[in-house]
Amino acid sequence: MSTSDPLVVVENVQKHYGEFQALTDVNLSVERGEVVVVIGPSGSGKSTLCRSINRLETITSGSIRIDGTELPAEGKKLAHLRAEVGMVFQSFNLFAHLTILENVTLGPIKVLGYSKADAKREALQILARVGIEKQADKFPAQLSGGQQQRVAIARALAMQPKVMLFDEPTSALDPEMINEVLDVMVGLAKEGMTMVVVTHEMGFARKAADRVVFMADGQILETGSPEEFFTNPKTDRARDFLSKLI
Ligand code: ADP
Ligand code: MG
Repeated sequence: MSTSDPLVVVENVQKHYGEFQALTDVNLSVERGEVVVVIGPSGSGKSTLCRSINRLETITSGSIRIDGTELPAEGKKLAHLRAEVGMVFQSFNLFAHLTILENVTLGPIKVLGYSKADAKREALQILARVGIEKQADKFPAQLSGGQQQRVAIARALAMQPKVMLFDEPTSALDPEMINEVLDVMVGLAKEGMTMVVVTHEMGFARKAADRVVFMADGQILETGSPEEFFTNPKTDRARDFLSKLI
């Protein structure tokens, strides 16, 4: 695998839920270090696409490769390979009975085989990166939503992912906490992290996206630079969507 090849390749992907077709002929390549923002109306298949890239969903046909390798549908190898794809959801999904530090060290110990000491050292560094190091010994319920989401980002980063997927990471947050999470994401983008971000935060898209992908009805209808897309959307669906955001 050459380092000039795209890191994520989604090819001719179809996803059915029973009779319903949630993804139709989706093709998307994400280059190393690229930040792709995925937008589109509710029900357009954005979450299904993220979940398919991470193998939380099994695609009906087509292929998805990360760094040249297709994730197996199941088995031991899946946990390891899935670790290469960090995922952050709208709901933070932290383990309530574990401390912040334990939430972040669990994966590296269980899946990557880190010693407790190594996992802790790494975790504290990553928590510092997202500004949560002082809360390491607290439990999730003692943190604000914005702090919890930053822990969820730290937990994904602790797995040394090659790419980070964010599915509406700020949609469940109180407005005053949105920016603290977006700032962490902008920081990651600047550090060169490869990212796929589903979000309605167009400020983030303008600031951090290399490319915007617009989805509707399970298809990618447009892809372009943020400038191109926001000033000159090509489809009625995208124009309509953008007009409703403002
Ligand atoms: P988005 O994230 O863009 O809002 P989703 O990917 O969540 O869209 O959903 C795309 C479509 O697939 C929606 O119509 C949704 O109802 C449907 N869908 C999603 N998950 C399931 C499921 N587990 N079973 C059946 N239909 C689903
Ligand atoms: Mg969704």
